[in-house]
Amino acid sequence: MSNAGPWEAVLPGVWRMTVAYPNVLPDGTVNLYAIQDGEEAVIVDGGATGDHLDALERHLRECGVRRVTALVATHYHVDHTAGMPELKARLQAPAFMHPLDVAAFDRAFPHAAGTFEACPARLRAGQRDLWVIHQPGHTHGHLHLWLPDVRAIWVGDHMVEEGSVWIGPPDGHMADYYQALEAVINSDAMAALPGHGPVIRQPQRAAHRLRARREMREKQMLELLAEGPKALAELTKALYPDVDPRALPFARHTVIAHLEHLEERGRVRRIMSSGDWTMRYARTEE
Ligand SMILES: [Zn+2]
Repeated sequence: MSNAGPWEAVLPGVWRMTVAYPNVLPDGTVNLYAIQDGEEAVIVDGGATGDHLDALERHLRECGVRRVTALVATHYHVDHTAGMPELKARLQAPAFMHPLDVAAFDRAFPHAAGTFEACPARLRAGQRDLWVIHQPGHTHGHLHLWLPDVRAIWVGDHMVEEGSVWIGPPDGHMADYYQALEAVINSDAMAALPGHGPVIRQPQRAAHRLRARREMREKQMLELLAEGPKALAELTKALYPDVDPRALPFARHTVIAHLEHLEERGRVRRIMSSGDWTMRYARTEE
């Protein structure tokens, strides 16, 4: 069975294809986009491996694309990059990412090292300009892409229409993530194109919702810590009591990212109790 979902026009000259990829939350699909002008196109994210690459080539041909000028991945995680080495070979196009994520990719996937090179600040399909913006958060080299002619922003794994994304170390950094949301709030984007799920038609509102959710989590943590110092496992259990066991590592990493953020702001500190040699988090005096 093919792992390629429908090929859908989401904006003028912008196509989205959903690719089945069972190991990712929330719905087991990842998005791949094509930005077209005339005979040229830029591809954003590569999906995982699978026969969606055949479907992609067919769709591009049917749309009249003769040349792919660039492949760009929003970040190095496998669901966005595993299809890239083969795509690069088939389409004879350079593959780009932020240099920090190029290095992370080469370390994580040595068999495919060298696939990506550092992304230039602008990519071009025909007369269309795509601006490349370094916007860390989910990973240190995460990119946002801005297509001014339709005021659309690609937000990778920073935003979803429903639910939330996970931000956790070693790749993720919460303070950066708040800035990424802030950038969307302050933009005049008419649409945000996420790595997973449907196009977000009210990006500023969605970014507000995601920020409120993160702030709510930090408030809950400070309330829990007001009862006394707590270990990571206790905090995770209290904050995510009904979490699907498969999602537990993501929940734990999100809690760590929040604790780091609260530590950076001087709200929380770590203490090591000599009684049981367990590290706990405590509120600093206010
Ligand atoms: Zn992803």
